[in-house]
Amino acid sequence: MTRMVIAGNWKMHHGPSAARKFFEEFSPRLSEPEPHIVIFPPAISLSTAVESRRGRPEVDLGIQNIHWQPKGAFTGEHSARMAMGAGARFALVGHSERRHVFGETDAEVELKVSAANAEGLTAVVCVGETLEERRAGRVKEVIVRQLNAALSGFSQEGGKSLLVAYEPVWAIGTGETATADDVVAAHGILRSWLQESVGDTFAADVAILYGGSVNPANAADLLALPNVGGVLVGGASLEPESFAKIAEAGSP
Ligand code: PEP
Repeated sequence: MTRMVIAGNWKMHHGPSAARKFFEEFSPRLSEPEPHIVIFPPAISLSTAVESRRGRPEVDLGIQNIHWQPKGAFTGEHSARMAMGAGARFALVGHSERRHVFGETDAEVELKVSAANAEGLTAVVCVGETLEERRAGRVKEVIVRQLNAALSGFSQEGGKSLLVAYEPVWAIGTGETATADDVVAAHGILRSWLQESVGDTFAADVAILYGGSVNPANAADLLALPNVGGVLVGGASLEPESFAKIAEAGSP
């Protein structure tokens, strides 16, 4: 049975000492059997997170953003190779804050997915429509365009893995969760696209996470929906107690 993926995106929260404190309080709250937990601390807290989750090596870590070059004169950036070296095994790519706050393009998302792929990091490709696009009836067009662009250089060779996250922009950090119908429709679109584009066998192994104001009260219902393989949690992943409750909701 495939385990649910319960991912936490800390965004620009929890520097090293707060990250240490988080793990001290989070790890004892986890109960068996656990879902697959992946935490994305800020890059500056990654090494601390690696040390702090000792005794819980099954809690995976990821990086929130990567540059597509392996190294070079790119002040302030981190490469996929460096993230791997620091202990990350996953990379968020195309998060809506990267796209809408930092102007990241579909073409850059594709370069980042390919760089992650080449270095053995599992990319978590985030797609999602704005409220304006939803109101204009463009959900399918937008999320298929984003996924298609992101995966145009993706290679399955050597059993490379991939996660997709459907995160409607209007539901991120707003307290407004997509309805069950919205989630089922969007995840169905993404699953069909994957089946047609990367093949049934590979597509079956790609978990599609839902993200957007997930909390301990709504996690179980969201996780029970068809084609939902996990959740990507922002705000509610910062508190050990609430994130542990969400993890419990995803317990096999
Ligand atoms: C996110 O950052 O990916 C996210 C979904 O945030 P929140 O859970 O706070 O809406």
